[in-house]
Amino acid sequence: MVDAQQTVSTTPATVTETFDAIVVGAGFSGLYMLHQLRKLGLRSRVFEAGSDVGGTWYWNRYPGARCDSESIYYMFSDHVSEELLQEWSWSERYAAQPEILRYLQFVADRLDLRRDIQFNTRVIAATYDEANNQWLISTDNGNQARASFLITAVGCLSAPNLPKFKGLESFKGTWYHTGNWPHDPVSFSGQRVAVVGTGATGVQVVPEVAREAAYVYVFQRTPNYNIPARNRPLDAEYIQQIKSQYREIWHKARISGFGLPYDAVNRSALSVSPEEREQIYWAAWNKGGFYLGIETFSDLLVNKEANETASEFIRARIRELVYDPKVAELLIPRDHHFFTKRPPLEHGYYEAFNRDNVTLIDVRSTPIEEITPQGIRTSDTEYEADAIIFATGFDAMTGSLFKMNISGRDGITLNDKWADGPRTYLGLATHGFPNMFMITGPQSPSVLTNMTVAIEQHVEWITDCINYLRSHGVRMIEAQAEAEEAWVNHATQVAEATLLVNTPSWWVGANIPGKPRLLYPYVGGLGFYKQQCDEVAANGYRGFALQR
Ligand code: FAD
Ligand code: NAP
Repeated sequence: MVDAQQTVSTTPATVTETFDAIVVGAGFSGLYMLHQLRKLGLRSRVFEAGSDVGGTWYWNRYPGARCDSESIYYMFSDHVSEELLQEWSWSERYAAQPEILRYLQFVADRLDLRRDIQFNTRVIAATYDEANNQWLISTDNGNQARASFLITAVGCLSAPNLPKFKGLESFKGTWYHTGNWPHDPVSFSGQRVAVVGTGATGVQVVPEVAREAAYVYVFQRTPNYNIPARNRPLDAEYIQQIKSQYREIWHKARISGFGLPYDAVNRSALSVSPEEREQIYWAAWNKGGFYLGIETFSDLLVNKEANETASEFIRARIRELVYDPKVAELLIPRDHHFFTKRPPLEHGYYEAFNRDNVTLIDVRSTPIEEITPQGIRTSDTEYEADAIIFATGFDAMTGSLFKMNISGRDGITLNDKWADGPRTYLGLATHGFPNMFMITGPQSPSVLTNMTVAIEQHVEWITDCINYLRSHGVRMIEAQAEAEEAWVNHATQVAEATLLVNTPSWWVGANIPGKPRLLYPYVGGLGFYKQQCDEVAANGYRGFALQR
């Protein structure tokens, strides 16, 4: 007998199951989405390429991997489960990858999520079947599935970017990409290791590998403004105090610009005396973490002169931390302003260059020409290495969406529609792709926030929306072209008012050759963004076409 809600048809080649909703991805986003869909009573299936839950924290197992958001805020809030929030205690201010992965496994187990997740299954195509108003999903194991709703939870930073280095296949040692790290322990003991890339990932890798390897070559193209993380163990008393305040903490985070319960200020860096400014920067520097960007001055992202005061402050710290003045100068960013690229948090990164087994190679002036059987050849030297770690980042924001081969109404593909850059309504939906929602899609705050808070906001908005559709007999929802146009224009306008658009970074797609240049995340702030999403919902989903 076939379950009334479940249709299974089999042919020798494929199995097609029908669900109410299909979610792609089982990181923070997919897990919460599944939990919410269940609460609505929807029969749902999550497809996940990895063999377990965790997303980012399943794939990024490189040495030194840990969060840059403070752990106590980088977790599911009371909206997901007050019980789990109170039960889980983090061991460090910035938890390391194994602990975050354990946390997500704990959530999956306690909410009994795994039974609706199909692991080791990559979605390779998603096609809107207009006649049936359904999404048809094809997976890499040859099966298909259908659903009324398609929800992408594929992550903003989940498509690793390995630049096309000539000769990589000839390399006789072992190479790794940080975003696809082996599950078995990797030892660099006694080895010469080349690290390519000095973004948030490379900055975490270098000090950790330097402690273990015989020698480390760091290939740097662009130096960053790295901020000290000031990690520390968390004691029981502090955790208890935070737990007792979580209700207010989450409220503050949700209405904040960056999804963090920090005290944003409203003062210009140019409105105070140089002495006072210095004091303010020092206080934030000593506190560690993103306070330097958030709790100091409000015009760092919009005013070059104001920003230059922060940039200069950090340059001075680099000169103090790195003993060799020539190396220090190479580590000092001059071609962009502070926070116009994602500033990495560092755990002994600058000090690593004071070790006698670490060499910095400036590949801006001597670019990498090829990978050789022995190592890496730049325009002037060959560096021999036993292992290469590529910390070269991701095809962010659109990479994993494009790899899914999504086609909407009339066969239009997402890749074609977005060929000149993403076009979304609120970063949640896109015209021509009915009944499809994107969690942390482009043109939503996503990567410019503490992402767990942004993810919850999206999941909850989508849940409310689906609930509304079902209770109002609406079969189909689709972003209207005019509303989309207005949102794209608004997102562009806000972006252009900041310094972010002028710095080549992955935020603007500059790390991927040929990728359209625009600010992919929405920079208007999470709190303001949430208000707009809520208003759209309160006005009967203004800007969406609803079909009964
Ligand atoms: P992900 O965790 O990326 O999960 C997406 C999942 O979708 C993956 O498991 C992937 O396998 C799966 N998937 C993708 N495509 C398919 C497909 N076609 N078929 C099947 N499955 C698919 N953010 C912060 O706010 N604070 C931090 O401190 C922080 N630290 C980070 C550290 C690193 C090293 C990285 C890379 C990112 C970090 N981020 C951080 C961003 C982080 O990605 C988010 O915080 C969060 O984990 C995203 O969750 P997600 O579920 O949306 O996406
Ligand atoms: P990234 O910021 O894009 O950095 C990639 C690095 O590789 C850059 O230094 C880049 O140089 C370099 N690179 C790329 N191609 C190169 C080439 N052909 N030759 C030489 N160098 C090359 O990637 P990421 O460090 O993986 O970080 C991506 C994002 O993930 C972060 O910004 C952050 O949002 C998230 N992340 C977060 C954490 C955390 O919160 N703890 C940790 C890691 C990552 P250029 O700068 O010159 O392009």
